Amino acid sequence: MTRRVLITGGAGFVGSHLCDHYLSEGAEVVALDNEVTGRAQNLAHLAENPRFRFVRADVVAGIPDDVGHVDLILHMASLASPPFYKRFQVETLEVGSLGTQRCLELAAKTGARVVFASTSEVYGDPSVSPQPESYWGNVNPVGPRSMYDESKRYGEALLTAFRATRGVNTGIVRIFNTYGPRMRWDDGRVVTSFLVQVIKGEPLTLHGSGQQTRSFCYIADLVDGITRFAATDHAGPVNLGNPDNEMTIRALGERVCQIFGVPESFGPPLPRQDENDPQQRRPDTTLAKTLLDWVPKTSLEFGLRATHAYLKGELGS
Ligand code: UDP
Repeated sequence: MTRRVLITGGAGFVGSHLCDHYLSEGAEVVALDNEVTGRAQNLAHLAENPRFRFVRADVVAGIPDDVGHVDLILHMASLASPPFYKRFQVETLEVGSLGTQRCLELAAKTGARVVFASTSEVYGDPSVSPQPESYWGNVNPVGPRSMYDESKRYGEALLTAFRATRGVNTGIVRIFNTYGPRMRWDDGRVVTSFLVQVIKGEPLTLHGSGQQTRSFCYIADLVDGITRFAATDHAGPVNLGNPDNEMTIRALGERVCQIFGVPESFGPPLPRQDENDPQQRRPDTTLAKTLLDWVPKTSLEFGLRATHAYLKGELGS
């Protein structure tokens, strides 16, 4: 029997790539999205596919009945970039809490597995590095990122409770910084900002010292990790991110300039994005490697080139 997969946030960056993956495997896919940050254009190429359906709806308001039976639910809907989640604070809290509950209730009825897109932000501004799943984090519950961090922490707690008390097959993935085609050019994240600045011939914007670190994972690797994990019955949490390319934001800027052959040019330093901006971030992916035989394979250069080409097309330049 054909599997039916529901992907909330299906018109978003990660969600739309997951739609492609499951369709390529022969599954039926329902993408649910309220298009606050997701974009129907990410799914336009699937319009003629008879196994694909797009439902414009907000998961917080409830999953429409006519979505029907599903075997797997991937709850990817969220405001994922700091400028967006700071703009839509209550909506961010709702989609991680109520939205997650809607998915779990449907799963309790249908027997579906639910995979929840959690985040490296559950570790807050971490005091250990790299971050293993066993680290409880350093999150400010009333800080400038709390709407995102706490919505995801609450979502994790909700999955844990539904598994314990209602026997739902739940799985938590903690996604670290990921980039690639279909990111919005205006989402304000560092990879898109730097690439758009290179395309427009503008200086790169560094927030704070530029000494804060991130590790960057390419979308194809993330999709590979999520789908491997979704195929298990494991509860997680499991970290998915690139453990091998932690770098400072300044070093990322330098690398971007070098790859695209433009002179290194940073604008005047901007204030730190916020006082809880994590100063270091690198996933410990030992569990993903052991459990899923998963390691990211895409080089930063390949990934940046693919993303640059996509953004150039988006900007019409
Ligand atoms: N950042 C920057 N310049 C930009 C955009 C972001 O220096 O144009 C910094 C930001 O302050 C943060 C890091 O890059 O320290 C990563 O930011 P991003 O928004 O990509 O993701 P986060 O990991 O904070 O969710």
